[in-house]
Amino acid sequence: MDIKSIGIVGAGQMGNGIAHVCALAGYDVALTDVNEDALDAAMDLIDRNMERQVSREKITADARDAALARITPTLTLTDLGPSDLIIEAATEREDIKHAIFAELLPSLRPETILTSNTSSISITRLASATDRPERFMGFHFMNPVPIMQLVELIRGIATSEETYKACHGVVERLEKTSATAEDFPAFIVNRILMPMINEAVYTLYEGVGTVTSIDTSMKLGANHPMGPLELADFIGLDTCLAIMNVLHDGLADTKYRPCPLLTKYVEAGWLGRKTQRGFYDYQGDAPVPTR
Ligand code: NAD
Repeated sequence: MDIKSIGIVGAGQMGNGIAHVCALAGYDVALTDVNEDALDAAMDLIDRNMERQVSREKITADARDAALARITPTLTLTDLGPSDLIIEAATEREDIKHAIFAELLPSLRPETILTSNTSSISITRLASATDRPERFMGFHFMNPVPIMQLVELIRGIATSEETYKACHGVVERLEKTSATAEDFPAFIVNRILMPMINEAVYTLYEGVGTVTSIDTSMKLGANHPMGPLELADFIGLDTCLAIMNVLHDGLADTKYRPCPLLTKYVEAGWLGRKTQRGFYDYQGDAPVPTR
């Protein structure tokens, strides 16, 4: 199937990056969000991020103008109906994702491929609540999308080979690399990454180290480019907690128990960079550890 147009649901951290790379690769993009401010902020951010690419001579000004013209923002979910491929990148809550698919499905053509950028929720379960489980799969980008090379492609139990090949073709056109994961909780990247982040929060919770000592240890001691707490703030603490809950519920093993301190930060609305406060406070010029 030849994909020419892509509808993206959710214009948050991931949705704006997905719209950015898809438009630059020549796809017509419709981008929607329930929150008008989020949609406006996403369009602004895409503009600024592309401008930076122009100033670094990564893309031409003409390519930027053409890509920006290919993105149509809309507050109406069903405007995505004519798209060949849908990438759902809304908040990591299964009820929200089910509600989006239920509202969107009647406006889709039968051949439209439906995908989710979920970090952890069962693709098979999301697919089974739609009218097209064979044309449904996981299309998992990494954050920040314009920079990170990997896309995890996750087949649900019913996903057809044709659907897989069409999505694989999109990844190639985006000039990214795909890794195929089976549909088990949190797939590959987050199955390995999130327990490490959760353990870093436990290390903080139990007073083994401060925010600075934990991040410095993993940067200089394990050669990680970012410390685990800095990375958690970057991903979003609500997303980290949601993924730990999916691992805990889905694998029924206490080793995936979310750290109570992570829950506490989310309860406080301290979700990391996106709310200016998480394990670091981002309101000043430089991030300040909150513990
Ligand atoms: P985010 O909180 O930055 O953005 C989510 C957006 O979805 C918000 O703008 C919100 O208004 C919107 N939204 C909520 N309900 C909606 C609805 N009914 N219709 C349309 N839009 C709606 O979250 P994010 O970090 O961009 O994560 C989005 C998805 O991507 C999640 O499934 C997450 O697991 C996944 N993901 C996140 C990361 C990461 O590092 N943050 C990485 C890979 C995948």
